[in-house]
Amino acid sequence: MSTNGNAAAPGVNGRAYTYEDHKFDVVVVGAGGAGLRATLGMAEQGLRTACITKVFPTRSHTVAAQGGIAASLQNMTPDSWQWHMYDTVKGSDWLGDVDAMQYLAMEAPKAVYELEHYGVPFSRTEDGRIYQRPFGGHMQNYGEGPPVQRTCAAADRTGHAILHTLYGQSLRNNAQFYIEYFAIDLIMDEDGTCTGVVAWNLDDGTIHRFSAKMVVLATGGYGRAYFSATSAHTCTGDGNGMIARAGLPLQDMEFVQFHPTGIYGAGCLITEGARGEGGYLVNSEGERFMERYAPSAKDLASRDVVSRCMTMEIREGRGVGKSADHIHLHLDHLDPAVLSERLPGISESAKIFAGVDVTKEPIPVLPTVHYNMGGIPTNYWGEVLNPTDGDPNAIAPGLMAVGEAGCASVHGANRLGSNSLIDLVVFGRAAAIRAGEVVDREASVPDINRASCDKIMERFDRLRHANGGTPTADLRLKMQTIMQEDAAVFRTQETLEQGCRRMDAAHQELADINVTDRSMIWNSDLVETLELENLMACAITTVYGAEARKESRGAHAREDFKDGPMAGRDDENWRKHTLAWMSETGAVTLDYRPVHTDLLAEGIELAKIAPKARVY
Ligand SMILES: Cc1cc2nc3c(=O)[nH]c(=O)nc-3n(C[C@H](O)[C@H](O)[C@H](O)COP(=O)(O)OP(=O)(O)OC[C@H]3O[C@@H](n4cnc5c(N)ncnc54)[C@H](O)[C@@H]3O)c2cc1C
Repeated sequence: MSTNGNAAAPGVNGRAYTYEDHKFDVVVVGAGGAGLRATLGMAEQGLRTACITKVFPTRSHTVAAQGGIAASLQNMTPDSWQWHMYDTVKGSDWLGDVDAMQYLAMEAPKAVYELEHYGVPFSRTEDGRIYQRPFGGHMQNYGEGPPVQRTCAAADRTGHAILHTLYGQSLRNNAQFYIEYFAIDLIMDEDGTCTGVVAWNLDDGTIHRFSAKMVVLATGGYGRAYFSATSAHTCTGDGNGMIARAGLPLQDMEFVQFHPTGIYGAGCLITEGARGEGGYLVNSEGERFMERYAPSAKDLASRDVVSRCMTMEIREGRGVGKSADHIHLHLDHLDPAVLSERLPGISESAKIFAGVDVTKEPIPVLPTVHYNMGGIPTNYWGEVLNPTDGDPNAIAPGLMAVGEAGCASVHGANRLGSNSLIDLVVFGRAAAIRAGEVVDREASVPDINRASCDKIMERFDRLRHANGGTPTADLRLKMQTIMQEDAAVFRTQETLEQGCRRMDAAHQELADINVTDRSMIWNSDLVETLELENLMACAITTVYGAEARKESRGAHAREDFKDGPMAGRDDENWRKHTLAWMSETGAVTLDYRPVHTDLLAEGIELAKIAPKARVY
């Protein structure tokens, strides 16, 4: 429902803006897998639902997900939700919230069968069931058995299949889409309730004020804070930036996943499914070195482990290529028929981006930023947390977050492959179920908070007319270089302190930003500047959180903390979530929140998932 028509709102700094106002029960920001699953679930229940997205829904980064979606269907090997939960807990290096991880593992089969019934064209087994492949860190029998085939796949285009199906189903249920609208900021009441969002229609330059009883952020990750990333250029952490500007904390931002196999030079992803189908890594001596580091899981050890081993091989002079600075991934021993049936997309990517015929030669690969475990803290219903001294689980009213933007937290310090797609649909669905319970359909939609909107538009106007000496692209490159150099796979106190100092200085330079295009229509210069501010909030909280965390855990591997039975992990002092607030001037304040260690339901013994050393 929208009350179209121009509101007689004043301009900003004497400059006129055209406003249109809308009222909905729920506004979802983002149309990736998480946003669409939430939108569909809300609309199915008859909630008046809008979905705002800066790119066309099926161009969201989810479209690039290749390998698949994890659920213990048992179609190819024995499996159970308990084993899936165990692998997720271990994968998280014991930082994930136990209730959320249990919810994920228990609900996963249901969520996948729902996708099947909505029409996702999964690959099939001989007898017609959903095809499942092995993936890193997913094992049988509480990590004791061989790899389990748990990852449901539609060839190597699983995200593509899911996204198209969910978009079609959302339209069928009359969700209203606002496509190529850029959400600028959250409308917040004085008491901290979120009552809507302000967005800019990139196509005609109008400003839209959406009032809603519930706002769901599903804006994806912030891979583009780094120089080399597998994520799309649109993955700029916009929702995280909005949260930081609303005075709310971000959680566990220091945990950034590097994927072992980005194509050297281009950064494009070669799915872990390639190793799931039998591919292996080799150093300059022709050695399958993963056998040395992870004798049982080998090339299918979890991502942080494989990325670190590759970096170690390169550092010790066993990299391949002219500069001995990357590693080879072999698929050329596999049956070409299997490659063309199961991995057609990556065969094509390898050809285009590395000039390699995978049936004949190895692919040059390098660890590349791939996923953000941290994000907006939520409970397992997707409700955003605003922890207070007395209540670490206090909720920020009117606000939810799902998908890579959110942090439920099921991935803890490290995400297992194929556990993100399942996170999108399980928690997108959970948010819809919860909204069905807590959103009062009869109540009136909150009035627009003019003061909050004015503040949002003042910032927008300031950036639009920014007249400093630093082009957005230059400052972005500076930030990306700092993050790549000082907050990457290997970290030390020294590099991280340096990262904090350099990021502080980079953040100050935002005051000197220069935007050359003042127009309101398809102004990509201004879009990128808004995105840069969001990326900066992500980058600075990431490096500060990392500097403060004096241990190694999951993707946060510090060279100065790697000894002892837990290889540098310190459960006594550091099994807790980092919370990071950012002030308007870019100052970061840190605090911590306990990990949830209680089960959600019966069915698994706590002793099974008790912390121990994480070896593969
Ligand atoms: C190359 C690649 C391959 C992957 N493969 C797998 C895999 O096989 N299995 C797996 O489990 N995971 C995989 N992942 C991870 C997984 O795909 C992502 O974590 C997941 O798709 C993120 O989904 P999302 O819905 O949270 O966000 P996205 O899909 O990134 O969508 C974000 C949405 O938010 C919108 N948005 C953002 N900012 C704004 C704004 N300011 N205003 C309006 N709209 C906005 C965008 O338009 C978009 O619609 C892969 C990731 C990559 C990069």
